[in-house]
Amino acid sequence: MLGVIIFGFRRYLSQLAMLTLVCGHCNNPCAHPLRKAVTKFTLFFVPLFPVRVVYSVQCTFCGTTAQFGRQRADELMKQAPSGGGSLPLPR
Ligand SMILES: [Zn+2]
Repeated sequence: MLGVIIFGFRRYLSQLAMLTLVCGHCNNPCAHPLRKAVTKFTLFFVPLFPVRVVYSVQCTFCGTTAQFGRQRADELMKQAPSGGGSLPLPR
């Protein structure tokens, strides 16, 4: 009996927080969405396990994207306002 195995990869993108950072490219302090991209191995279109996790921030001013690993993302998350998605209010 000949079986057909269908497998592939699927990318899941989620936004973790909205950070206000000074862009390293255009030097503007502006909002940077912190995103997590998880590539999962799929078998018969069912996602089984993650094979690659990449974190990134994108400058909303000039569009430059920076990618990094988990550790840097955790550091940035600590600076993020609780709840995420909102900008810190000036005091
Ligand atoms: Zn920028």
